[in-house]
Amino acid sequence: MSHQIDIEKIRADFPILSRKVNGHPLVYFDNAATSQTPKAVIYAIVEYYEGYNANIHRGVHSLSQEATDAYEEARETIRAHFNAEKKEEIIFTSGTTHGINLVANGFASELKVGDEVIVSALEHHSNIVPWQMLCEKTGATLKVIPMTESGELNLDAYEELLSEHTKLVFVNHVSNALGTVNDIERIITKAHQKGAAVLIDGAQAAPHIKADVQALDVDFYVVSGHKMCGPTGVGVLYGKEEWLTKLPPYQGGGEMIDQVTFEKTTYAGLPHKFEAGTPNICGGIALGKAIDYLNAIGFETIAAYEHELLTYATEQLLEIEGVKIYGTSKEKTAVISFNIEGIHPYDIGTIIDKLGIAVRTGHHCAQPIMDYYKIPGTVRASFSFYNTKEEIDAFIQAVKRAKVMLS
Ligand code: PMP
Repeated sequence: MSHQIDIEKIRADFPILSRKVNGHPLVYFDNAATSQTPKAVIYAIVEYYEGYNANIHRGVHSLSQEATDAYEEARETIRAHFNAEKKEEIIFTSGTTHGINLVANGFASELKVGDEVIVSALEHHSNIVPWQMLCEKTGATLKVIPMTESGELNLDAYEELLSEHTKLVFVNHVSNALGTVNDIERIITKAHQKGAAVLIDGAQAAPHIKADVQALDVDFYVVSGHKMCGPTGVGVLYGKEEWLTKLPPYQGGGEMIDQVTFEKTTYAGLPHKFEAGTPNICGGIALGKAIDYLNAIGFETIAAYEHELLTYATEQLLEIEGVKIYGTSKEKTAVISFNIEGIHPYDIGTIIDKLGIAVRTGHHCAQPIMDYYKIPGTVRASFSFYNTKEEIDAFIQAVKRAKVMLS
């Protein structure tokens, strides 16, 4: 196939892709929920537990030193990948949700009654609920950037919401429910013109788009390892050094302190101030390997190939009568959220699972989007660089079969 994707070789890197589900070859189209794991990452996990499992940063012994070195090397890989200026700006978290809560908690001391924060109508609940909790705590007001029928943000309305009261804007780079790629450059620039900080939820962008945090001039950027070929339970918060220095720690405990007495505790410097307790050492190391793996294929190659899959699948799906696709932005990742007239999305998902096809059904943790379209949910097929057109053919056949059975 074009774009230099050697699909046979890539698929051989993912052992799970050769398994069967319900007697059929697995067709994994639930990549927006979690990605599959290449051997390079699986082996990194095995090597860690077989070879140098030890607690980090404190040990004088060799194993501890090896584990510390590998963990800190992974931090450097992540820094370079996102082009952060400093390693200290890379905080290991347990995932996007943790990263957002960490920042929201920090802003409790920054906000007061009369201040405003801005979210978008296209967010995952992870990028809504922590901020609502923050507003309840501080008395700040939450404003919402409206969305349009095509599943895009109305950025003219956004600019009208911005004012000198705006302290923080938090928007996803890519919508998990629709795949829309938001114009975060414009969002960041306009927020900064009013003196507001910006957090970008990069959970869905990370496997498809390489974000350059310095070029974006973003204040915070958060991702989850498990959506970008890494393991679950690990993620990254990038924060500008000046913000991370200013915000208070999120959790207290070991690792994050400088001196502890019962009278007063002083905190460690960055990044440790935000990394209380024993971290997911193996997860961090494995995430570094996942990022190396993705970069070896190349993000431009990935994006071009996935776009081909998206176009192919969209054309095929629209040939089925009664199909409606939600999210029709020209700028979108390889996600198709759809319904078939008169059929509940859950029923389609259940039937095609019997044919080995994994898709997500429901509200995708983005209920406000479903409310906008006045639907209970959608069927979401989300593609990755290891999927194929043949798998899309199998998916289309399965959807047609489900339609016949359910009509
Ligand atoms: N934001 C977006 C856009 C997501 O897609 C997800 C995961 N579905 C999250 C946040 C939450 O990520 P996690 O569950 O890994 O913390």
